[in-house]
Amino acid sequence: MTPVLVINSGSSSFKYQLLDMDTASTLASGLVERIGAPDGVASHTVYAQPTDGPAPTFLDATRSRELPIPDHTAGFQVMLDAFASDGPSLTEHAPIAVGHRVVHGGARFFEPTLITPLVEINIDELSVLAPLHNPANLAGIVAAKKAFPDVPHVAVFDTAYHQTLPPAAYTYAIDREVAAAHRIRRYGFHGTSHKFVAEEAAAFLGRPLDELKQIVFHLGNGASVTAVDGGRSVDTSMGFTPLEGLVMGTRSGDIDPAALFHLARRAGMSIDELDDLLNKRSGLLGLAGSNDLRDIQAGIERGDEDARLAFDVYVHRLRAYAGAYLAQLGGADVISFTAGVGENAPLVRAAALETLGFAGVQIDPERNEARARGIRIISTDASTVTVLVVPTDEELEIARQTLSVARP
Ligand code: AMP
Repeated sequence: MTPVLVINSGSSSFKYQLLDMDTASTLASGLVERIGAPDGVASHTVYAQPTDGPAPTFLDATRSRELPIPDHTAGFQVMLDAFASDGPSLTEHAPIAVGHRVVHGGARFFEPTLITPLVEINIDELSVLAPLHNPANLAGIVAAKKAFPDVPHVAVFDTAYHQTLPPAAYTYAIDREVAAAHRIRRYGFHGTSHKFVAEEAAAFLGRPLDELKQIVFHLGNGASVTAVDGGRSVDTSMGFTPLEGLVMGTRSGDIDPAALFHLARRAGMSIDELDDLLNKRSGLLGLAGSNDLRDIQAGIERGDEDARLAFDVYVHRLRAYAGAYLAQLGGADVISFTAGVGENAPLVRAAALETLGFAGVQIDPERNEARARGIRIISTDASTVTVLVVPTDEELEIARQTLSVARP
């Protein structure tokens, strides 16, 4: 058994997952929430060992506890207590390494990196670019190192996969000195998921990754699309921050920046109010009152015109990027959909690719609608582009990358 612990730390919560990398299966996972509040909550789930496949076959048990969790260090103690009381035993399944999701690696980190004190300083310094995320990721690293002082800790950056973007794709057309002084460029995010999906797709099709042109749609509450050429990210829709690109649950995606100048001048909105507007009150939520695509679909069925418009704007943007990336790549061999919407909303998948018949894309309605789990083909046999649904597994990808550093 090769246990690896994966940590995804936010400012007031963290998620964890213990995986056995010999079988790529999850042994336990959990969520520690409301850190810093008097009524913290910790839930811990133990999975039965798989018997005949890589995925956990059934859920054994979940237990939730309510207790004060003053800080991340206390949160890790709660996690250790949960392992001790509910299993699996961390003595028998001691992690050989701990992998940490870190949102921003700037232009500095392009691969999974062993966390040394210098790397911690760099992650902290990159908080300038990701003020909400990097400090929270670092709090998780510091606490996890106290809980697991004797094993390597590895940072896996959300931006790293997109460090292969060519200058033409990552450069914004603004004054170069201003851009350089403030590190303004496209970084891209969701890299762990895009990498995982592109590699799963190639393996599933039994084709060499380095020969494939792929477009990967990661459509969750946050959403982005990446053009992947030979396994390398060559263009991606999120930019300097995760705000750019597709319409998301609560984020606007692309918008003319001059609209913000106008709102500042004419409506007297402050920078913080504009930030809140575009990041938290826009997207599907801003257009139709819910960030959940299921509500939008239900609204359309009820004849709600706001829901209809929200769906149409969402799909319009998906088509724009599909077309752009077909042009950037010079065609595609594979188009994949992943994450909450991508894996579960056939209507979105069909609408996004409906007009691409001219490019050899043909969705098979029955395959697309089939309620299936796991990686699957949803294009027709005649389609020259293979369209896939690929369930993403960011924890597994982080664990793999962690292992590649901890046990090269
Ligand atoms: P994620 O960020 O990947 O967890 O995706 C979360 C989003 O997936 C939710 O906000 C929903 O909009 C969407 N979603 C989840 N399940 C479904 C479903 N069955 N049909 C449509 N959308 C779904």
